[in-house]
Amino acid sequence: MTTCILAIDQGTTSTRAIAFELRDEGGLHPVAISQIALQQHFPASGWVEHDAAEIWTATLQTCREVIAKAGGIGRFSAIGITNQRETAVIWDAATGEPLHRAIVWQDRRTADVTDRLKAEGNEAAVQAATGLILDPYFSATKFAWLLDAVPGARARAERREALLGTIETWLIWKLTGGAAHATDATNASRTSLMDLKDRVWRDDLCALFRVPRAALPDIRECAGELGQTEAGLFGRALPITGSAGDQQAALVGHGALKAGDAKITYGTGAFLVANVGPAPVASTSRLLGTLGYAVDGDGAYALEGSIFSAGSAIQWLRDGVGMIADSRGSEALAQGLKDNGGVYLVPGFTGLGAPWWEPDARGAVIGLTRDSTPAHFVRAGLEALAFQTRDLLDALAADGAPRLGVLKVDGGVTANAFAMQFVADICEVTVERPAFQEMTALGAARLAAFGAGLIDDLEPRGDEAPAVWTPRMDAAERERLLGGWRRAVRAAIVAAHD
Ligand code: ADP
Repeated sequence: MTTCILAIDQGTTSTRAIAFELRDEGGLHPVAISQIALQQHFPASGWVEHDAAEIWTATLQTCREVIAKAGGIGRFSAIGITNQRETAVIWDAATGEPLHRAIVWQDRRTADVTDRLKAEGNEAAVQAATGLILDPYFSATKFAWLLDAVPGARARAERREALLGTIETWLIWKLTGGAAHATDATNASRTSLMDLKDRVWRDDLCALFRVPRAALPDIRECAGELGQTEAGLFGRALPITGSAGDQQAALVGHGALKAGDAKITYGTGAFLVANVGPAPVASTSRLLGTLGYAVDGDGAYALEGSIFSAGSAIQWLRDGVGMIADSRGSEALAQGLKDNGGVYLVPGFTGLGAPWWEPDARGAVIGLTRDSTPAHFVRAGLEALAFQTRDLLDALAADGAPRLGVLKVDGGVTANAFAMQFVADICEVTVERPAFQEMTALGAARLAAFGAGLIDDLEPRGDEAPAVWTPRMDAAERERLLGGWRRAVRAAIVAAHD
């Protein structure tokens, strides 16, 4: 019988376990899944917390369910973990109990700290060392906040009586019964404490962010043994042999392994990760420098950029202004028009990201005439996905990233063939959507299979053929549309200022 890999995908809104069967061709095929929703806590404006104990319980339950569904623990040979990144956990080393709720990546409570560090002129040095800008998004200021908020925690952390970690570290520690306090280099690259090139914690950054190095986990590669699960948890010990943050795991899941390969996940927002090859690329466009993956002393660096509102523009058209009954209906409505009629929608609902970086900008619709209909709004909402993607790709090019080969896509919005063709046209790139969409879990499983020595490399094998869109718009039309988009963005930015 073929062996299985257990992938744990601990996300922001749910915890999932997926069993992948490793078939003879070296491909991984999903055979069972279990999912539990995660409660969100909003204790104050801009604050978001998760209960780390709830995350652990849900992880255990989903894993047990999936092991049973897939035919029992005897079928499994390794575990891979992927997770929401940057979320900060603190726990008691002796009891294994969290000392505070986890601070979620979206949480902005430490904005005053990063503002002060910026004002003191630290950003350039931090970015040069870590690839990251100064922002409360990253874990370091969250760790420091926890150490200050929990009485006695800072002194206890110095003595390793209180431990720090992001979600994969917490799960590895719990799964191994406290035997392993470890992170992988992709997750570590999101803390603001790791040297991006050397992949070690930096004392100067630990001092700047006031995080005792003693309480931080060991930094390991993404594949290889990270620990053995306690035998009692699943009936027998299993090695944990893969770990990567969710966006990086998706990069591996997509098989975006060469410099110039990139993946973008179009969900509520959109996350671009572009493989830039074996050395980090410093961004001057305020993209984030990060690690794609690290295996066998080797690996790939990446540049990352986010679009704040992608599918959420479609949600707004549906729920906010009621122009469509369901998201799917947007495709036929957009296709029904011969062109966009000069209407552009800038979905700056929560500001504009790269390369504009206008946090105070807001949404705008321009170019309306008496002929404009709800279909024009919908089409403009879908077209905006492509325009925003193009802006990110232009930022990549400006940073000197390798020329983009193919853009691999996943996420809810990719069901929309009109939008995907428009992305191919506007971005002048081949767009590929895999048949199986769980790229994050697949990436974790592939890293684990590789880390367990069950496959020889990270290349995808045995996958169903992807859907492919190739550019077919002529250059003049593309330039005309991009000109309209850029004018619309400028209008949105001007409208946000006095
Ligand atoms: P997330 O993981 O961020 O919750 P998903 O990957 O599940 O997001 O994608 C959900 C988003 O995709 C929603 O914003 C929804 O509006 C959008 N969406 C779903 N189906 C379509 C479609 N056919 N066309 C356009 N947008 C869609």
